[in-house]
Amino acid sequence: MMMEYPQFRMLEGTDSLYAIEGPRHAVEFQPLGSTEWLVHAHFASDYPRFVWLQELREEAAQSKAISKEVFFERVHARTVRESSSKLGRFSAAGIETLTLESNVQLKPLTTFGVSSFTRHHTLVRSDEEVRQALMAAEQSSWELLILGGGSNVLLHSDWEGMTLQQGIKGMEVLNDDGNCLEVVVGAGESWHDLVLHAVEKGWNGLENLALIPGSVGASPMQNIGAYGVEVKDRFLWLEAVNRKTGELHRFDHAACEFGYRESIFKQKEKNLWVIVRVAFGLERNAPLHMDYGAIQSELQHLPPQEITHRDVSEAVMRIRRSKLPDPAKLGNAGSFFKNPILDPKAFQEVLSNHPNVIHYPLEGGSFKLAAGWLIEQAGWKGKRRGHCGVHDKQALVLVNYGKATGHEIWRLATDIIDDVRAQFGVELQPEVNQIRVS
Ligand SMILES: Cc1cc2nc3c(=O)[nH]c(=O)nc-3n(C[C@H](O)[C@H](O)[C@H](O)COP(=O)(O)OP(=O)(O)OC[C@H]3O[C@@H](n4cnc5c(N)ncnc54)[C@H](O)[C@@H]3O)c2cc1C
Repeated sequence: MMMEYPQFRMLEGTDSLYAIEGPRHAVEFQPLGSTEWLVHAHFASDYPRFVWLQELREEAAQSKAISKEVFFERVHARTVRESSSKLGRFSAAGIETLTLESNVQLKPLTTFGVSSFTRHHTLVRSDEEVRQALMAAEQSSWELLILGGGSNVLLHSDWEGMTLQQGIKGMEVLNDDGNCLEVVVGAGESWHDLVLHAVEKGWNGLENLALIPGSVGASPMQNIGAYGVEVKDRFLWLEAVNRKTGELHRFDHAACEFGYRESIFKQKEKNLWVIVRVAFGLERNAPLHMDYGAIQSELQHLPPQEITHRDVSEAVMRIRRSKLPDPAKLGNAGSFFKNPILDPKAFQEVLSNHPNVIHYPLEGGSFKLAAGWLIEQAGWKGKRRGHCGVHDKQALVLVNYGKATGHEIWRLATDIIDDVRAQFGVELQPEVNQIRVS
């Protein structure tokens, strides 16, 4: 017999309520005094918990079925004190049937603006909706693609499975000692809006990362960075839902294994998690980061002791607007390639043949080369080919003049990679995530 979800039940003898969302998922409302609920999300990942949930469903655990109306009448009679996930508090919407759309055009949901249809699409607004989407994908064997703001992906073709767009909103200050704050933010919030809000409030530390497109949830994925600051400098922890089990897990800083445009979520744990919220450590008295020459020249008219975090964020925005194409006008995903990192031996080889190569020494003895310089020297800066090309102000950025396909952009990228390898013996790696149906 096919079970219908959600089911609503009440445990007899207590006032506990259960919304059973599927064979393995339930949300429990446990009464706390006469006015509050304690809310727990249960995922039956092992056999005993599965049996418990099955018994609850089948009335063997002294629970009785109640209607959705009665359930919500009772839920709304009290307030929620604490939930197992602070921002993803249970909401009525969380257990409504997931909204699934079919054959959705992804072009407006990505900054490259290439045409690509997804067979099934859903926007999730809570942890519960993430779990429902995971279940729907698993039950129908749909391959799953997670999307935030779509500013770091190149879609090579139509997506035959399901896209889950992260839409969990919200921001909460968990701790504030007068200087340091712990701020937790929903993964579906806009990154740039977070930076602007933090600057406005005087919660400092993110100002150098202004105007980076995309969502908060994707920011740890590649440890976004700009103008001497990376997300890892302000990251405290994140919570993510396991794509296989639906369980919520907290990753601290060490567990994320951050590197240059890298994290564990692009390596060992790739495609295993949906990030639902991220916590940052911000400071009212955070130091200013103005090592970059471009920031210094933007702010040279100000007396150094008067420069504020807001001045730095505004300088960063002016610099970025002057150098980078606006995706609303010209499709792109920012830097298409990473700056290559070479060990000392490989670097000396490049340097002996190309003494002008732009490079930066790194801790541990290796060297980072400026990929933009390599691409420019190889003759690609400003070149247009068909519907796509290399930006004329920044050779790291590939652009879509409007009608390019993912294949066309990727062919351009691979030709650049081949040329740079032939001329410099250096292998460029894409920074942008290449989305292909496996
Ligand atoms: C004009 C421009 C300038 C840019 N400048 C910079 C820059 O200075 N520095 C920099 O680091 N980056 C830069 N980027 C790249 C991009 O903005 C960042 O990588 C951003 O963090 C991507 O966020 P997004 O929400 O758009 O991610 P998406 O493009 O939607 O997704 C990126 C990857 O993360 C995965 N993902 C997204 N959200 C989640 C989630 N919640 N849980 C699990 N997986 C998820 C996706 O599956 C995909 O693999 C720039 C891009 C553009 C267009």
